[in-house]
Amino acid sequence: MSDVFIECDNLVKIYKVADLEVVALQGLDLQIAEGEMMALVGPSGSGKSTLMNILGGLDQPTAGKVRVGDYNLLNMNRRQQVLYRRRMVGFVWQQTARNLLPYLTAQENVELPMSLNHVPGKERRARSRHLLEMVGLGGRLNHHPDRLSGGEQQRVAIAVAMANQPSLLLADEPTGEVDSEAANTIFDSMRALADEARVTVVIVTHDYTVATRVDRVVGFRDGRTSIEVLRRRGDNGVDITEEEFAILDRAGRLQLPQVFIESLDMRDRVKLRLREDHVGVYPDRDGQSDRDGANGKERER
Ligand code: ADP
Repeated sequence: MSDVFIECDNLVKIYKVADLEVVALQGLDLQIAEGEMMALVGPSGSGKSTLMNILGGLDQPTAGKVRVGDYNLLNMNRRQQVLYRRRMVGFVWQQTARNLLPYLTAQENVELPMSLNHVPGKERRARSRHLLEMVGLGGRLNHHPDRLSGGEQQRVAIAVAMANQPSLLLADEPTGEVDSEAANTIFDSMRALADEARVTVVIVTHDYTVATRVDRVVGFRDGRTSIEVLRRRGDNGVDITEEEFAILDRAGRLQLPQVFIESLDMRDRVKLRLREDHVGVYPDRDGQSDRDGANGKERER
């Protein structure tokens, strides 16, 4: 992949709760290109938020490698973490209340992170106005959050997240509390800003329809990536094809979809055969019939 901006290599995160250890990331490999807009999907508990917190510099991994731009996130001290967050990352959270201050107007909310970065007043006002126009809220600059719909609040939140020109925009279920029409507008706003600023966007979502709105969807299962859906433009630059891939990690491990495993009743081990242009994966009927008490014979298909 050209211009790899985010690189996770065998990333492990273990949470210790009393005497219990929870392995939230189990050797995750993932690369994200600069300027890519991608989504992480997967069941609850599969490790998506854990990865977001690590990429956002809010939490540190237990082992492995994780690099974002020139920052190695494994060994940062607290001060470096604060600088990393301030310079590199913008966040959009699911709960609108976490994104905006209720007593500030939309424009003041967008200006606040810039004030903290000592951006001069004139520049703050111009940039906050531009960002709010980009998310379609040029007419709502002086509205307080309680005068805005949920979808509009999330679009202000995106403008806030982009205020200090981050290289990475992280959005955790940004459309979780709005209807599908508002969700579409939120995605359009992120896309517009991402294209303008060439920011890399990582979105965690339960919403599988996002596949049509991002460059790549990565499916999470048990603290690892399991599938990828890529969208590619055809030669005419217009037609878009979608293709689903399984993930082959650096150690050569591959996760078969559960439906394949069940439909061929595969258990414990499989036979692999190298063919001219593919690899065949066959259930071990011998082993299974031996265990079942029969005297099986290798069956080659
Ligand atoms: P997702 O975002 O996909 O729902 P999470 O990353 O939140 O998944 O959680 C992955 C696993 O790590 C789960 O088993 C969860 O219970 C556990 N986990 C997440 N955060 C913590 C924490 N702060 N302390 C202990 N366990 C946690």
